[in-house]
Amino acid sequence: MDGKMRTNADADGRLADGGAMEDAVQEGDQIRDTDIVFECSHCGKSLAIDYRAAGLTIPCTDCKRIIDVPIPEGMELGDLDVSAEDVRGRNIRLRDALGGAQGRLKALEATVKELRSERAAQDQARMEHIERWDRLRQESTHLRKAVKEMSESFERMSQILSKSL
Ligand SMILES: [Zn+2]
Repeated sequence: MDGKMRTNADADGRLADGGAMEDAVQEGDQIRDTDIVFECSHCGKSLAIDYRAAGLTIPCTDCKRIIDVPIPEGMELGDLDVSAEDVRGRNIRLRDALGGAQGRLKALEATVKELRSERAAQDQARMEHIERWDRLRQESTHLRKAVKEMSESFERMSQILSKSL
């Protein structure tokens, strides 16, 4: 119990002056017993963060992309004895993350729209290509038929000619 409280006080001080939770992400040589150790799902960088960050989304210290801090097995988020400041900081960070996510969503939507119109143009070109191909095939069928008819006529003509000779 004593040890746990000391750890919290230590973490509180660290979080209080740093402000953002990303400051709580440790480099490999400073891992403590109370840290959650995990790997960035984007770049694979090994990260350690205070256990109270379980379940949060934070930017990776290496690639800066947003990652989910895993919740250790058997740990309930309700177990976290977080202070009001922690909760407030968490909400602010969640709001910031949400804002960032919304910005990225907007950019993604623009990209999707762009890709869709590109796709539509490609489909249009493909349809025209298919239609042109269909016309060509019809014409070639007509041509083949005409050639066949002509060769049959020649055949008949040469038969008539050979008989009359
Ligand atoms: Zn990363």
